[in-house]
Amino acid sequence: TKEDVKSYLFRNAFVLLTVTAVIVGTILGFTLRPYKMSYREVKYFSFPGELLMRMLQMLVLPLIISSLVTGMAALDSKASGKLGMRAVVYYMTTTIIAVVIGIIIVIIIHPGKGTKENMHREGKIVQVTAADAFLDLIRNMFPPNLVEACFKQFKTNYEKRSFKVTVQSNETLVGAVISNVSEAMETLTRITEELVPVPGSVNGVNALGLVVFSMCFGFVIGNMKEQGQALREFFDSLNEAIMRLVAVVMWYAPLGILFLIAGKIVEMEDMGVIGGQLAMYTVTVIVGLLIHAVMVLPLLYFLVTRKNPWVFIGGLLQALVTALGTSSSSATLPITFKCLEENNGVDKRVTRFVLPVGATINMDGTALYEALAAIFIAQVNNFELNFGQIITISITATAASIGAAGIPQAGLVTMVIVLTSVGLPTDDITLIIAVDWFLDRLRTTTNVLGDSLGAGIVEHLSRHELKNRDVEMGNSVIEE
Ligand code: ASP
Repeated sequence: TKEDVKSYLFRNAFVLLTVTAVIVGTILGFTLRPYKMSYREVKYFSFPGELLMRMLQMLVLPLIISSLVTGMAALDSKASGKLGMRAVVYYMTTTIIAVVIGIIIVIIIHPGKGTKENMHREGKIVQVTAADAFLDLIRNMFPPNLVEACFKQFKTNYEKRSFKVTVQSNETLVGAVISNVSEAMETLTRITEELVPVPGSVNGVNALGLVVFSMCFGFVIGNMKEQGQALREFFDSLNEAIMRLVAVVMWYAPLGILFLIAGKIVEMEDMGVIGGQLAMYTVTVIVGLLIHAVMVLPLLYFLVTRKNPWVFIGGLLQALVTALGTSSSSATLPITFKCLEENNGVDKRVTRFVLPVGATINMDGTALYEALAAIFIAQVNNFELNFGQIITISITATAASIGAAGIPQAGLVTMVIVLTSVGLPTDDITLIIAVDWFLDRLRTTTNVLGDSLGAGIVEHLSRHELKNRDVEMGNSVIEE
């Protein structure tokens, strides 16, 4: 009936609006492309999209802190330990599976075949050792200054020198320069030589440090009985307030996404210039990401929960499209929260706890991509990798994905670690820059999907602990 249609439309308004935004954005982008807008015109045109990015990023910091503190405080130490273990096991397993898929696919398809001599590059190798990067990762878990940890920071760490540079820019370091490819080539070489973003940072902020602090803080106030009450209530209500702001931004999101996509299509380089090997490489990455996102992750979800993964993924649609539009899993985080809690009814104690950590360290798409890209670069250099080197690539790709920030094209920067670990020329990262903006969107979507399905899986595995806690707290227990 008419009423049914109306209520259906209203219930699915977000999904419909979001899908419409993608379609309209794509059409608009391709319609305006022939007019060859100048850089400045493109900037003006994509302004509504830029605003969306800024609004989302604005919410991320208070969201990470308040959700982790309340998430931890809502659980007793035994339950949080178990939930944490499950999340970590899930993150590690899926990341390793992703890396293996990436490696197998790139070896089978062999996109670097038929190397032209002129594709060879003698690169300058930057001395970021895997050990340095790993120590940095651990180091950043303990920021000496919490206030400072909230600011943008980039750090150089090569040739045993280590100093920190604060970049005075409103845009992300790579994002700011990538809009102009030729300029980006130059800048990226410079960045990879001089600057390595702080591992585990989100939008330049040391998110990993904040995640660790918030978890410990939440854990402590969760065990404080009456004395902790004031803090628990404070963070609870802070979290609630931020989520209400997220709800407002969500209504704006489709418009922002429309302009983000249209703007990118208008300004992208002509696809015609992308030659044989690069095209094959692009296809290889897409195939790898699809296998992981459309087959492996949903299958894993089904095997663990015995529930239909597609219904769950359907509820995530707006988050996935936002990831596609923003190419940033941390900017998408607010929307991921909303989708999981409201559409999929995932327990808030799980999302608050698992999602901020996931968005910071769990990046399946990035891990798959880094391993695959490193082997591609080996292939175009006719560099034979032995088994030990392939293992090294899998380990460093995993570490690099943990260390990559949830910001646009962060994976490209942390790839330096993977390449140097087996002695591949880091300058060859410039070979794949032309397609990276596109592949970045796809791997970000995979990253967000992995975090979200992880929340569903951890919730399912932890249902007993959650129920016990409800009984203990005298909450009304909803029977399954
Ligand atoms: N853009 C990705 C993300 O935000 C990270 C990457 O560059 O791979 O998840």
